[in-house]
Amino acid sequence: MSQHPLLDGLNDKQQQAVSNDDSHLLVLAGAGSGKTRVLVHRIAWLIQQRQFSPYSILAVTFTNKAAAEMRGRVERLLGSNVRSMWIGTFHGLAHRLLRAHYMDVGLPQNFQIIDSDDQQRLIKRLIKSLNLDDKRWPAKQSQWYINGKKDEGLRPQHIDTYDPTEQTLKQIYQLYQESCDRAGLVDFAELLLRAHELLRDNRTVREHYQRRFRHLLVDEFQDTNSIQYAWVRLLAGEQNSVTIVGDDDQSIYGWRGARVENIQQFLDDFAGAKTIRLEQNYRSTAAILNAANAVIANNSDRLGKELWTDGDDGEPIALYAAFNEMEEARYIVSQIMAWQEQGNAYQDAAILYRSNAQSRVLEEALLHQRIPYRIYGGLRFFERQEIKDALAYLRLLANRDDDAAIERVINTPSRGIGNRTMDMIRQTARDRQLSLWDAANLMVSEAMLSGRAKNAVASFIELATRLDDHTIDFSLGRIADEMIKQSGLLAMYEAEKGEKAETRVENLKELVSACENFNLDDTEQEQMTPLAAFLAHAALEAGEEQADEYQDAVQLMTLHSAKGLEFPLVFMAGVEEGLFPSQQSMDEPGRLAEERRLCYVGMTRAMQKLVLTYAEQRRIYGQEHFHTVSRFVREMPADSVYEVRAQATPTKTESYGRFHHSVSHETFEQTGFSLGQRVRHQKFGEGTVLNYEGSGPQSRIQINFDNVGSKWLVVAYARLEPA
Ligand code: ATP
Ligand code: MG
Repeated sequence: MSQHPLLDGLNDKQQQAVSNDDSHLLVLAGAGSGKTRVLVHRIAWLIQQRQFSPYSILAVTFTNKAAAEMRGRVERLLGSNVRSMWIGTFHGLAHRLLRAHYMDVGLPQNFQIIDSDDQQRLIKRLIKSLNLDDKRWPAKQSQWYINGKKDEGLRPQHIDTYDPTEQTLKQIYQLYQESCDRAGLVDFAELLLRAHELLRDNRTVREHYQRRFRHLLVDEFQDTNSIQYAWVRLLAGEQNSVTIVGDDDQSIYGWRGARVENIQQFLDDFAGAKTIRLEQNYRSTAAILNAANAVIANNSDRLGKELWTDGDDGEPIALYAAFNEMEEARYIVSQIMAWQEQGNAYQDAAILYRSNAQSRVLEEALLHQRIPYRIYGGLRFFERQEIKDALAYLRLLANRDDDAAIERVINTPSRGIGNRTMDMIRQTARDRQLSLWDAANLMVSEAMLSGRAKNAVASFIELATRLDDHTIDFSLGRIADEMIKQSGLLAMYEAEKGEKAETRVENLKELVSACENFNLDDTEQEQMTPLAAFLAHAALEAGEEQADEYQDAVQLMTLHSAKGLEFPLVFMAGVEEGLFPSQQSMDEPGRLAEERRLCYVGMTRAMQKLVLTYAEQRRIYGQEHFHTVSRFVREMPADSVYEVRAQATPTKTESYGRFHHSVSHETFEQTGFSLGQRVRHQKFGEGTVLNYEGSGPQSRIQINFDNVGSKWLVVAYARLEPA
């Protein structure tokens, strides 16, 4: 039977999902079963076979990167562009709605998005202005409260409470919201909430979009929160079709308000919805898949799915017990080097970890071997200090009332505006209900500041005004270039010493190139200046785009940000009790179950090889911890995991096996010592072996001496003896 080319390379169930008619559809299936692939093919099918215009399709993905990839894949399938299709994250789409209808939602045209860092600073300031003790009222707590309420769709006036603590939080929320509204600032949760209110309360707008979007498709549906789900319902209206794909076992954002119950809710709310289950996994070897299935089987309350593969068994999962986190990192790096020497690309290897703080040691080990790497999340380009400084200047050019931006750069680089002066400006702003910018201007013109302070503030005002006037006809790239020079930012970082400062200078220059290369997406141009569009892009895409996008590089990311991705070789670092599962989750069954799902997500990213590593001793925020291997590892079938011994001596070489035979262990064996071993040195006394590097006469060994601390010694001369 000849079939439509868009159905080629899909199994029966997948074909059914792709070619489903206009009824609502849930595709519920485990990791790697082709859910995202089905979504891509379904979009192409709707356009090509069903003749829907791309204009009438709305697709939601979990990251901007995933959105760009999906658009590209649809375009390749169709051989034509689908620019008029809306595709993006909930936040990105909300932003787009708000830009188009800023007046309807009472925002200024040049409203700015603030990230969670800015949000926290702002809240901190407000807490102070209320004369509350910031130890009793940490900004973080209020931030959680505010965002949580927004995610539930609640404004301060909707909150009725007799609880004194909550009354104060509500007051902070209220004040925070007023400040944001006055300054034209919108936080992430606000994007969703405002867009929801727009659709809910403005019938004309709602009906316009309901008529427009005939098909709504949502990937990773298990991680939608209440307000996102409410959005989908509003846009669907009575007549549009909704396709959602998801996996309850991969719900990992419960801590941020995601509701896996939305899957069941969907079946209740959308009459006649069909459910299709995909059961074949195309991603991972049988060894990986079986182990992942065994781990997740320990959770209860699952919707229940089968997952099988007809692929090879593949190699068993490797488990490596490291002495400490440095040694763990070095082991991982040695494996990556061996893998690359076999002709593989760095970018096909990923290192996943539970907590961002783990990345630094891994980065150091990679740097040490000069292996290029890229980080998703964490040290993200648009989140780096110098970039945020520069962006704050740009934001100020776009909107003088952006208090968060002023706070950040009014005295960066230092221009003699001290805390006292700032406090006075803040006070004036509060008393007269002005933005910081207006307050500063007022204080200068009415001579409300002492001579030196006045000059300093006046020079800042003059700088911003001059920059703006001076660059009015410039391209975005030149605006950025002028800004980093005239503000003194570049000079400030150039004057700093060290590698870090050098990187900062490079990053600032990289920002100028990013501005130069910034392309206004045709469809989004609507009412934005290039500067405003770039700032929105920076705020929304923080971290998903990196400076060195095209280089072949090892990929580092948290387990959370690995969702939806796949890599031939995956390392999961730090699989230890107390880190993964995290200490806090151990006493709460709900959180433990979420950690387990996170483990399932991590394992199922691996296509060919999965390597688990843990450190028996780890420094976390300056404190040594001693950990045992994660319970999740113990939940894997014994025959699917292969233990690599760290504390091996030369006689045990044969127990390594093929893949696990690490280069560095061999060289280490030549020293005759093993990690963690106690040794004695004539001069330094007794110590513990921490590390080693090099081979032959050059090989060096690191010992942590009880009395004199850690030292690197050349093995050939050290004359060490076992203690
Ligand atoms: P996750 O739950 O991790 O998001 P997923 O269900 O979205 O996974 P995909 O990423 O769509 O899965 O697919 C996993 C891999 O399997 C991809 O490399 C995809 O190209 C491949 N794949 C999916 N379906 C088929 C098929 N019918 N034949 C061959 N390969 C397939
Ligand atoms: Mg997917």
